[in-house]
Amino acid sequence: MRLKRLGSISSVVIVLIILLLTLSYANFKYSKNNIEKAVQSQNNNVLDEATIHLQNFLDERMKRMTILSNILKENKEGIGYFIENEYREDKKYYSIAYLNINGDYIYRAPYNEKYAGTNVLNIYNDDTIYKFTQIVKQTKKPAVTDIFKIDENKLGLSIMVPVIENGEVKGFFGSTYDTEQIGKDIIYSKVKDRDTIIFGISKNGLITFCQDKQKIGKSIYDNDTFQCSKNSLDNYLKMSKGEIINHEQKCLTNIKGKQVEEKRYMVSKPVKFNDDFKFSLAVTTPSANIKMMYEFIVFQLLITLIIFLLAIVIGTFYARNYREKKELEKSLAQTEAYDKLKTDFFCNMSHELRTPLTIMLNGLHFILMKYQEEVERDVEFKKIFLKIRQNAFRLLKLVNNFLEISRLDAGVEFRNFRNVDIVKIIEDISMSVVFYAKQKGIDLIFDTQVEEKVIAVDEDGIEKVIMNLLSNAIKFTSSEGEIYVNIDENPEYVVISVKDNGIGIPEDKVNFIFQRFTQVDSSLRRIAEGTGIGLAIVKSIVEMHNGKIEVKSKEGEGSEFIIYIPNKTVEGETVASKKIDQEIVNAINIEFSDI
Ligand code: ADP
Repeated sequence: MRLKRLGSISSVVIVLIILLLTLSYANFKYSKNNIEKAVQSQNNNVLDEATIHLQNFLDERMKRMTILSNILKENKEGIGYFIENEYREDKKYYSIAYLNINGDYIYRAPYNEKYAGTNVLNIYNDDTIYKFTQIVKQTKKPAVTDIFKIDENKLGLSIMVPVIENGEVKGFFGSTYDTEQIGKDIIYSKVKDRDTIIFGISKNGLITFCQDKQKIGKSIYDNDTFQCSKNSLDNYLKMSKGEIINHEQKCLTNIKGKQVEEKRYMVSKPVKFNDDFKFSLAVTTPSANIKMMYEFIVFQLLITLIIFLLAIVIGTFYARNYREKKELEKSLAQTEAYDKLKTDFFCNMSHELRTPLTIMLNGLHFILMKYQEEVERDVEFKKIFLKIRQNAFRLLKLVNNFLEISRLDAGVEFRNFRNVDIVKIIEDISMSVVFYAKQKGIDLIFDTQVEEKVIAVDEDGIEKVIMNLLSNAIKFTSSEGEIYVNIDENPEYVVISVKDNGIGIPEDKVNFIFQRFTQVDSSLRRIAEGTGIGLAIVKSIVEMHNGKIEVKSKEGEGSEFIIYIPNKTVEGETVASKKIDQEIVNAINIEFSDI
């Protein structure tokens, strides 16, 4: 049975795991796709932004050069002063120069005597600037030069404006910018993400822009300084031709002196001026970021798995608890059924015993009535006769108590609440038991703060309570003792106290006396007879009245039982006590039979 259940649980678990894995795989695929798209579009955005900044920079410089060249034309004498001033005021310039039609320097800022009268071809190893003087001469239009080498580690780019007089190009005015400085000012200052690399490659294969300054000016054909995978090199060659690139590539990266191959997403676009391709700009996102995103997905998967496993463990735990609870409930139901059987048996037996007992007591009563004189005459006979009667009453009390307990257990609401004068009921009972108290040499004093008090009670119940408390008080008080019965009231309750100066109850027992079958002294030497159910019944009856019971007791000094019955009436008339004297006498005879 157990094995079979285990089998079915494990197949459910397997199906759930397969389902979970399938879902996770789908989630993985979907997220991967989304991440890749996000990375590509992020790279594209960065690239577009950088390109726009560069274009703006060049446009703005071009305008400035044109304006300045016009001012220069009218102030030929002050050329040197004018150019130096401009150079000092704007930090973006690498240099500003005024060339004649042959490409000889007329003035260059910052001033260096080696430039004076020298041709540009003799200053730079690179002939780019000279080439562009020829182009500008022909087109008579401003131009942005190609990227050229300023020196071994520096690349530059110039903006050249023709100086035209009478429709003829007489010279050139231009400014040169260091690409490293452009990178710093225009591109990298805008990129917050440290891991994103932006670099540029000129059309002659030189690294124009790069966060890593060491690489600027290096050629992609120079294997020693520019190590990269074949795949990257292919892309860089395409970049130098102005092709658009947008895909993942393998890169060789130098991490702590070790060449590590990693994947990067790269997007690249050409930057043009007057439709003439100048250089390509590229953005790559290191694989580390993507790796992190993948790790996040795997982490997500792991967490889901852990939650799933936890759910299985907790589920199994609860399922087991549930089973155990069910089994417990079953055995409890069985116990209750058995208990009911037992109670029913007691109840039936009590009924069976009560009938012959009543017949016997009626017989005794009849003998006492009819042969009263004879009985009174024969002292020996009278003694035996009364003993028989007293023990018959004791048996009846026992049987009655069992029946009462069974009825309370069954929870049947059998009480009959009527408006009666509770003071009178208690006074009548107290007076009727004075005889028993006197027999033991005990004074029973009844006192009340209220002359008459009508409240709703079950008369039989209250009688039973008072009789039980009084019989206990008499039982556990030695001769010459005193018992006080007192009645008082407050707005909420009628308060009835039965107080004795008898043996009292030890402190550690006082909390248990209202439990069934509890007797403080259950030894054979105990001073009084009883079964230990009286107070349990008393408590139940008081609680049925929505009242409460308290006990104050001190061993050797006495006990006080205080009951509180709600100070309330029910709808209906006030009735006189239904009991006739003989009925009370009988009830007392039964209740006090064990004294
Ligand atoms: P019982 O039939 O044994 O008297 P009860 O339930 O009426 O059963 O009382 C339980 C026990 O509480 C008694 O056996 C006795 O030990 C203790 N008890 C009750 N009333 C008093 C009292 N007035 N003084 C001292 N002990 C008492």
